[in-house]
Amino acid sequence: MSKDSIDWKKKYKDAALEIDILEKSQNNDQLRLAVSHLTLGLQGQSSDLDHELTLLRSTLNSLSSPPPSRGVVTNLGKHIRKLDQSREKITKAITKIVLEWISQLKNHVSATSSELESLLELERVVAESVESNYKFPSLLQRLVSLQAAVLASEKAELSTVKSQTSFDIDLSLIGTELIQLIHSLNLTREGRQEANALVGRIEQGLVLEALSEVLANVVVLAQLAAASSNEDFENYLITLNTQLVEVQGFLHESHSEQMVSGKAHRQLDERVRHDVTTISKAVKDSRDLGELKMSVSSQLAGIVQVMDDFKRGEEERDGKLQERYDALMRHVAEMEEETGRVKAHMEEERLKARTDALTGLPNRAAYDDHLEKEFERWARYQQGFSVAVGDLDFFKRINDTYGHLAGDKVLRLISRVLTKNLRGSDFVARFGGEEFVILMPSTQAEEGAKAIEKLRESISKSPFNFHGQPVTITMSFGVTETRESDTKDGLFARADAALYKAKQEGRNRVCIG
Ligand code: GH3
Ligand code: MG
Ligand code: MG
Repeated sequence: MSKDSIDWKKKYKDAALEIDILEKSQNNDQLRLAVSHLTLGLQGQSSDLDHELTLLRSTLNSLSSPPPSRGVVTNLGKHIRKLDQSREKITKAITKIVLEWISQLKNHVSATSSELESLLELERVVAESVESNYKFPSLLQRLVSLQAAVLASEKAELSTVKSQTSFDIDLSLIGTELIQLIHSLNLTREGRQEANALVGRIEQGLVLEALSEVLANVVVLAQLAAASSNEDFENYLITLNTQLVEVQGFLHESHSEQMVSGKAHRQLDERVRHDVTTISKAVKDSRDLGELKMSVSSQLAGIVQVMDDFKRGEEERDGKLQERYDALMRHVAEMEEETGRVKAHMEEERLKARTDALTGLPNRAAYDDHLEKEFERWARYQQGFSVAVGDLDFFKRINDTYGHLAGDKVLRLISRVLTKNLRGSDFVARFGGEEFVILMPSTQAEEGAKAIEKLRESISKSPFNFHGQPVTITMSFGVTETRESDTKDGLFARADAALYKAKQEGRNRVCIG
């Protein structure tokens, strides 16, 4: 049983005793006065009781009427007991809700945190704080501050994990309205300080996660305002109700204007608006501060629960998103790897397709590509080039005398000599059989022929040995340069004709065509 109700009982008993003594002493005037005081003291506890007390007072104030019967007093006692019982019920319910609130918050703090210590401490004093009206606001205040700390640290943790997901609801309109509302409260200096701190906080930007807490603070401030101005309870309720209706209105606006996406966001918004509506209705219907507190606390606990659920949902969704993202990244990496492999393979194939297997030199296809590029360059920059076609002299004889494998070996060796004796910018390919083709960029025929002459000489001087016997290998070349209106085939044909000439003139020589 609450202390307040004990006090009321004691007051009632004392007054009843006083009435008894006065009745016995037949001092009716004093008796009327004492009972009148008593009724004033009891006023404002319940509407039923108020009604009885008003009736009693009007009886007592009329000097002509007989003193109230014992039946009237018994009736009053009945109402007081009823009141006492309902207060006890409310106290229990609030205690239960606050304990539940604390236990929910406990789920969000680590075992070693200072918040947990504070929560445990609050848990110990809940029953006592709820029982006395004057201690309850500070308990609520501590709880919401703690909740803010818990939410803030959770948010900080969360923001390191998730990068994109955030509440994208603009609550600035609600913030502005709440600030106006706080300014309109008639507060003491102490209350004003708290109000300023709250306003400062809202001005920094109101986020949905903190809305329940800010609302709770506004409720506490409004309670302070009501207490300090001594306005009557109903006025306080009406003010609070108006404010909550406004908040709800703005939530509705923000819903229609700014809520952009996501079922979860919409659900959260709906739940918060529903809770605010319920708080608002409870405030409107309430005729009892205890009942109101219970209702507001329960709704705030509800909002906390919704926030928790939402956050859990968001985290789960984030987790799933992260998993999908990771899987996707893995696939991309695998695909990249695979693409790399395929690319390398294709490149290998492509090179193979453009490389002569016997000599390792570019083949005829590669030569065609290269010639194409040189032609483009020539067309664009007017940089002509020279082509040399070379053919081994009497190669058939080598094959015939030393065998086909020996012939292959000669082809490989000749290829090396060609590559070694040409400039890096020159291009040499095996055109087919024992025929080779050389492209010399930015080179005129004369100049090109000189380079080929050196090449021819070094080939003829290369020491080839077959079965211990030195064999001389020679090559004939035809060289030509690009001429205006040349085609690729025409260019090659001219070089080939020069080669033919070199063969005709006795081989092992270079002819310009
Ligand atoms: P010429 O001086 O007139 O060019 O006489 P040649 O004997 O070199 O010309 P011919 O066209 O009569 O013979 C070319 C020979 O080259 C025939 C062929 O057996 C040989 N040959 C072509 N490709 C290869 C090859 O890949 N390996 C070997 N070992 N011989 C090849
Ligand atoms: Mg030949
Ligand atoms: Mg030939």
